[in-house]
Amino acid sequence: MKILTNRTCDVANMRIQMQALRSEQLVWYSLLFLLLIGTQCAASQPEFLWPDGTLVERQQALQQAFRDAITLARVVAATFDPCEDVSYRYRPFFQDFSFVSQILESYHMVQVFLWYFQPIDGLFVNNVFRTIANMPLPAKLDDSTIIDILSSPGVHEMSAQFNRLVLSVGDHPDLPSTKQLCERSENGNPLAFTFLSHALGDWAWISFCEDAWQYPSLDQIYNPVDANKGKPGWGCDGLGDHDSEFMTTLGGLLLHELMHWTWLLYNFPNFDDLIGQGAIGLPQIGDFPGPEPADGYGSLHAKQLKSVENADNYRCYAESKYWQYRCGRPFKESMDAADDLARTGTRFEPAPPEADPT
Ligand SMILES: [Zn+2]
Repeated sequence: MKILTNRTCDVANMRIQMQALRSEQLVWYSLLFLLLIGTQCAASQPEFLWPDGTLVERQQALQQAFRDAITLARVVAATFDPCEDVSYRYRPFFQDFSFVSQILESYHMVQVFLWYFQPIDGLFVNNVFRTIANMPLPAKLDDSTIIDILSSPGVHEMSAQFNRLVLSVGDHPDLPSTKQLCERSENGNPLAFTFLSHALGDWAWISFCEDAWQYPSLDQIYNPVDANKGKPGWGCDGLGDHDSEFMTTLGGLLLHELMHWTWLLYNFPNFDDLIGQGAIGLPQIGDFPGPEPADGYGSLHAKQLKSVENADNYRCYAESKYWQYRCGRPFKESMDAADDLARTGTRFEPAPPEADPT
């Protein structure tokens, strides 16, 4: 089955290519989601921790969040398209720039990448998602390779580094008291936070705090329970017509936190060159501290920053792209900070990554 054309970014051929793509798109997306769902085996799983008495629903939500974070990364890695920046590169040739945008939008090819990153960062960002998805970095995804790569044992088993990841309901029980941030109220309660330690080697502890459980899973949004059907925030129709907090999932929050985990990412080219030093004394993707914009959280601020150094840019990009593909229709970009209050009505305080003082 022909599932993905090996396209070039030639505007002269774009109409023909887009027509071909549209007919292939549904088949390919269906196949992609079949491959992505249910293929994550037990090897290289993180450790899950929760206090005695934790609701089963919450335990399952944490495990699903990990699967969703990997799925988001895989969708981005598998669908990354060099044509996403075509409008930018051909901009000088068009007096009426909307011409290209209209073609792209009419064929569901919204340039989500350029909302959240600079064109020059395409390779770097793709490498980040391929690393989390455990896709070989040199691999080229096209007709002849996508099945082999998405179904290869290496992809299914996920990065061996995930054996060094601990996800907990509430503060990780072994955190130093000064690093137990879930109950700390003076700066607002974080949704989740990451603790990295030199003393622990390259482990990461990611704690999910009380407010994080407001966010559903990918499938809970896509297939809402009867009580939520037809309501804003549920189902593809309920996501509205632009990027917003309605797209945010618990797995998306985890994907954000994984970006802080230097030891997961720092082995690929240019990480040291593009990413500044973080609290761990090594290059680390962080959280923009402000003041312009006020912080690095949410679709609007991420769009304003277009930065590979801000963790939420990766989350917003991945979730926007996922929902565009899952729902089979384009979404517009966020234009209002209120978009990031759409589900919870709350703008949460930043929770930058933590590290031990050594
Ligand atoms: Zn963060």
